[in-house]
Amino acid sequence: MLELEAAVERILSDIAPLGTEEVSLIQAANRYLSEPIVSSQNLPAFDNSAMDGYAVLAADVSTASLEAPVELRCVGETPAGQPPGPPLQSGECWRVFTGSPIPANADAVVMQEDVRIDSAKLGRVQVLDSARPWDNVRFRGEDIKSGHRLAEAGTKIHFGLLASFAAVGLNSLVVGRQPRLALLATGDELVEPGANLNVGQIYESNRTMLKAMSDEVGCQTKVFPIVRDDLDVTRNALATAFAKSDVVISSGGVSVGAHDHVKAAFESLGGRLEFWKIAIRPGKPFVYGRLGKAYFFGLPGNPVSAAVTFLLLVRPALIRFQGGAETGLRRIQGRLAKAIRNPGNRRHFVRAAVDSDGCIDPVGMQGSHVLSGLGQAAGIIDVPPGADWESGRQAEIVLFP
Ligand code: AMP
Ligand code: MG
Repeated sequence: MLELEAAVERILSDIAPLGTEEVSLIQAANRYLSEPIVSSQNLPAFDNSAMDGYAVLAADVSTASLEAPVELRCVGETPAGQPPGPPLQSGECWRVFTGSPIPANADAVVMQEDVRIDSAKLGRVQVLDSARPWDNVRFRGEDIKSGHRLAEAGTKIHFGLLASFAAVGLNSLVVGRQPRLALLATGDELVEPGANLNVGQIYESNRTMLKAMSDEVGCQTKVFPIVRDDLDVTRNALATAFAKSDVVISSGGVSVGAHDHVKAAFESLGGRLEFWKIAIRPGKPFVYGRLGKAYFFGLPGNPVSAAVTFLLLVRPALIRFQGGAETGLRRIQGRLAKAIRNPGNRRHFVRAAVDSDGCIDPVGMQGSHVLSGLGQAAGIIDVPPGADWESGRQAEIVLFP
């Protein structure tokens, strides 16, 4: 049986990125940058106020206090979005708002809560608190300097990066092309959620789960109808799925049971099985194969096995197609909240939550059919064969995306 890392290596070494395309910023979430992003602008582009208040010369109000206010003449105002007022002279102030450019010479903003306005003294502002130079001023370029590299090629685009790209004026990005992905589920017992269930039948849940998981890495995913456990039906379903896809992912039917037809159907279409069976639990039966230019991943039917094999073996491939740099999942350390044993001879990926103290807490029953824990878990602990870990021991959790 293949070791997990060897299997991932093998898959990744087969995959070349699919090329690039330009997309608008608004469509770029969860895509992968094909080029580094360098800002052509300063952010902010001009010195501006961090508060609603009054731009002043700090020296004028260095001694201001409630007992000894300093009176200034307010000589104008600039709402956000307008050009700055004329240079400020000693004894003057200028009304500004959050984001307003401040006039030349002004070197501080007094917030409006720290002034008093006497209606009898038109245009006069009493400053009630001292200011130091550059109080409440945001400097040109203090956030992002023109020429600064905001992100490297291969970076996954998340909301924070998108905000910074938009803020420096970008409206499109060159990103890796997304794999066209087909999702199939096989099994005579499977019924669409919401339909009537006869005794012995179950609701199909893998396609919904895998669709969400593939969206997280930005694929163009198409969900196909449930496939009956019949060799010809499975072959036809696979043929349809492969017709317009870079990647086909099926679930179920990859074991050795009399009703498992996926491997045979794939091979009868001319598909080449690269390997099946990985030394992990859950997820031992896992098929990787190639058909022409397309790739095939046959996941086990048990939902937890499908989830774990997708995350560990398929997700890296989907990222590699798009030129993503980081194909693995994030890992963090913490103390075990419970003891864990692995008496078996395969690595066991144990679903676990992370509690508010940062402790890693295995969740409930660990059978590969058990869905309750999957809903609560933050990730999986990689527990080697023979492990006998006491509670409180330091451990590592591989985080779900
Ligand atoms: P299989 O891999 O086809 O032998 O299926 C293993 C177990 O997973 C069986 O109990 C199936 O009923 C269940 N199963 C297979 N496919 C799905 C699916 N798409 N949704 C939910 N359970 C499934
Ligand atoms: Mg089945």
